[in-house]
This record gives sequence, C-alpha cells and structure tokens, in this order.
Amino acid sequence: MRTAAQYLDSLRTRDLRLFVDGERVPDATVHPKVLPSIRSVALTYALAHDPEHAALATAPSELVGGPVNRFTHLFAAPEDLVRKIELQRILGRASGTCFQRCVGMDALNALFIATWEAGPDAHGRFVRWMTGVQERDDMLCGAMTDPKGDRRKRPPEQPEQFLRVVDRRDGGVVLRGAKMHQTGAANSHQIVVMPGGMLREGEEDFAIAAAMPVDAPGITMVLGRQPSDDRKGGPDAGNRFGGQEVVVLFDDVFVPAERVFLDGDVAACATLLEAFAGYHRASYGGCKPGNFDAMVGAVAAVTDDAGTRRASHVRDKLVEMIHLAETIHGVGLAASSKSTQHGCGTWQVDPVLANCCKHNVTRLPYEIGRIAEDLSGGLLGTMPSIADLDHPEFGEALTTAVGGRDRAHLLRLVENMTYGAGAVALRLECMHGAGSPAAQRIVLERHTDWAERMAHARRLAGLPE
Ligand SMILES: Cc1cc2nc3c(=O)[nH]c(=O)nc-3n(C[C@H](O)[C@H](O)[C@H](O)COP(=O)(O)OP(=O)(O)OC[C@H]3O[C@@H](n4cnc5c(N)ncnc54)[C@H](O)[C@@H]3O)c2cc1C
Repeated sequence: MRTAAQYLDSLRTRDLRLFVDGERVPDATVHPKVLPSIRSVALTYALAHDPEHAALATAPSELVGGPVNRFTHLFAAPEDLVRKIELQRILGRASGTCFQRCVGMDALNALFIATWEAGPDAHGRFVRWMTGVQERDDMLCGAMTDPKGDRRKRPPEQPEQFLRVVDRRDGGVVLRGAKMHQTGAANSHQIVVMPGGMLREGEEDFAIAAAMPVDAPGITMVLGRQPSDDRKGGPDAGNRFGGQEVVVLFDDVFVPAERVFLDGDVAACATLLEAFAGYHRASYGGCKPGNFDAMVGAVAAVTDDAGTRRASHVRDKLVEMIHLAETIHGVGLAASSKSTQHGCGTWQVDPVLANCCKHNVTRLPYEIGRIAEDLSGGLLGTMPSIADLDHPEFGEALTTAVGGRDRAHLLRLVENMTYGAGAVALRLECMHGAGSPAAQRIVLERHTDWAERMAHARRLAGLPE
C-alpha cells in the first residue's frame, strides 16, 4: 500500500495536461489551487499506515492475497459497508472537506457487479485490471456525468454532449466527449468512465465503461473555480485541505481492449448505474457528518471564545447541528447494515435507505450552515485579512477588535465551509453529487410496493382488499 509520500511522488511522474485559469500547469503537486485537494487525498493513504486507524483503513483482499487500502476494496461482507462509512467520517472530520476517493471505490464495486452480469469475459477483464489497481493502490477518478446539453434530448440527438465510442479498432476503442464535475481527477492515477444515465437500445455507442491513465493522449483537464480560491495557499484560506472538480475533455482517446469493461451492453450499464448510485448515495452518510464534526467544533469554539456558548439558545442550536449531522450518519449506517448479497458475492446497500441518506444530504446541510452563520456573527463575512492582524500600525488594535487571533482563524474555517472554497463540497456537492434530489425520489418511488401498502391500509380500515 502506498504511503502519503509515495502517493505524492507518484503524481509527479504523470504527464498531465491540466489547465488552471487558462494556463497549463507543469506540476500539479505544487500549484496552490491544486495542493489543498492533494493533501486531502493524501490523508486516505496516510491513514492506512497510521497504527490508530490502519485496521479501519485497510482490508484483506482475495485478489492480491493481502491487505489493501479500503478505497480499492470490494464490499465482501456487510461490515465492509459499515466500515466504509466509519472511515469516511474520520476522513471527513480530518479534512473538513471532500477527500475525493469515494467515487473510485464505489465505481469499482459497481463495476464488479455489472461486469459479472455482463459475462465472464467482461468480468475477467475487469478483475484483472482491478487487481492491478489494488496492487499499485491507485487513486481513481469515477467519471459518470456527461455535459448533457438540452436535458430533453437523448444522446443520439446531441452526441457531442455525451462521452461516446467514435471508433472501434482492432485492439480497442476510441472515445470522444467530456465528463463534468470530476472530483479529484487531477489528483488521480486513472479515470474510470461510465455512462451517466439510463440508455436504450440504439444508444450502444454511449454504453461504455473503461479505464485509462489520466495522462493518456487526448485527455485535457480544466480545473473548476471555487469561491475564494485565490486565497488558497494564503493566510485567509481557512482550511489547508480542499476539494477539487475538473472538466475532463476526451479528444479521440484510444483505450486498449483489456481496459474496456462494457461496450454496448445497455442492460449491464443500467445495473452499473443503479449499483453505483446506491453505494455513492450511502457514502454521503460518512463524509458529510465528518465535515460537520469539524464545522460544529469550529462554531462551538467561536461561541466559547465570544462568551455565548452557555446561553440556552446557543446550546440548543449547537445540539440541533449535532442532531442533523447524526441523522445523516444514522441513515448511511442503516443503508449499509441492511445490505444484501449480490449473485457475484459482494454486498449492496439497501437502495431505499441509501437514497433517503442522500436526500437528507440535499437539505439538512443547509440548515446546519444556517445555524453556523447565525452563531458565528457578522464577522464571518466582514473580517479583514489575517495578514492585517500583523500590521505594524494597527495590527494590535485590529486583533482586539476581531476578538483575538484564534477567533479570526476559526471564523475563516467556518467561512471556508459555509460559502468559501469548501462550500462546493458542503453545499453544491450535497445538492447534486451522486444525483440531484429528483433522482433519489425516482428510486424511492420505484422501490416502494404501493399496492402492498394500499392493501395493508384497506385491511386495517376493515375494507375488502
Ligand atoms: C461538487 C460536485 C462534485 C461532483 N463529483 C462528481 C464526480 O466525481 N463524478 C461524476 O461523474 N459526477 C460528479 N458530480 C456530478 C453530479 O453527479 C451532477 O452534478 C448531478 O448528477 C446533476 O447533474 P447536473 O449537474 O448536470 O445538473 P442537472 O442534471 O442539469 O440538474 C439541474 C436540475 O435540473 C433537473 N433536471 C435534470 N434533468 C432533467 C430532465 N430531463 N427533466 C427535468 N428536470 C431535469 C434536476 O432534477 C435538477 O433539479 C459532481 C457534482 C458536484 C456539484
């Protein structure tokens, strides 16, 4: 298993075509807008070697015959799903943001199921590739979301809005298109592309699941902007850890056949989509409560410092933050505990509870953030730079006016998480990551046995069924 230092070294060996603010970045590992997100991923490697957390952060793999980082592991038992949530909570708390490795882990597990359903050839190719991922301890970018253009149109009506196969040659396929919002793409070793929506017969060119190195010829990455990202690396960043989203452009990228897992199999792609959505929607029950541990801690410390902490309404609001965060966590754990075994041998989350978990995440974090803004006071949005606290003429007076240096730093952290760079992970990702709210409601409606519920109600009401 890679150490954090080995992970950093491995990123430097890539010939990444990454652009930030219009300029190509020669070494992503030292760019101030990329470095905070690399630090977050590095935590996932560090924990596997940390005596306190190694048992949780690693797992035995039958594929390699030894321990692997949990982020490359298959869910071989219900406990694996529970441990995933517990690990995510620890990492969410340690980073205060998105640590970017869950999409890849959930994609591996969904592909294991979908390729098994597709048949022995597909499954064999996938398992051989996945064994290498475990051996090298790769960080994966899970690339599902297409640009989609006009949402009313099917992929064949606007093919340029979807990643697609434009050529099938001897020995592989050629891909063209883009994937949007790619978490951690520039911090990864490989990209795993998967279709972003349910496909129909006649849409086989879009039914592609495959893996390629992040620096494969034809791949261009463009880093997404985040609020206040110009502060990164400076005293006002608020958090030295960060998240990352990238637009990935595919300009005729050749993928050799041994890394093409599904090609044209619309039914297997539907399985892939559903399995991934379940796993990933439950994942939010781990990482986000961990993030909120950090936010609650910062807000409690600010109120302590300001002398408001013991007021009854403040205590009540802090408890409300805890209640909301634990509600998210509880449903994530429940979805994992109520898992079922798939025919291929691995375990899947309860789809209804996983979707309830993510649906809560589209709402409750906004209330948590509202309370954080309430208790922090107006200085959260009006505070001068930390650098001004050192000004030779007014620094001392300013430090007194803002309530002291500690309070200033804590407020910067809360600012980062509520509407600074970290708000992408704590607001937008909560809303849209793993699918917008309507996507969860569709699953909830489909998985509910309405006839059975109505028949039950009729029995209770003394009516004929
Ligand atoms: C921070 C962040 C990180 C992310 N990380 C990843 C990642 O690592 N990998 C990845 O693949 N994706 C990632 N995503 C993408 C995420 O899965 C999508 O944002 C999500 O699926 C919604 O898609 P969209 O952004 O295109 O919004 P849209 O699909 O445009 O949704 C906007 C609104 O339109 C509605 N809508 C959409 N289509 C229709 C329709 N046909 N009819 C009626 N209403 C419609 C939706 O319900 C929603 O209310 C990430 C997103 C964010 C914000």
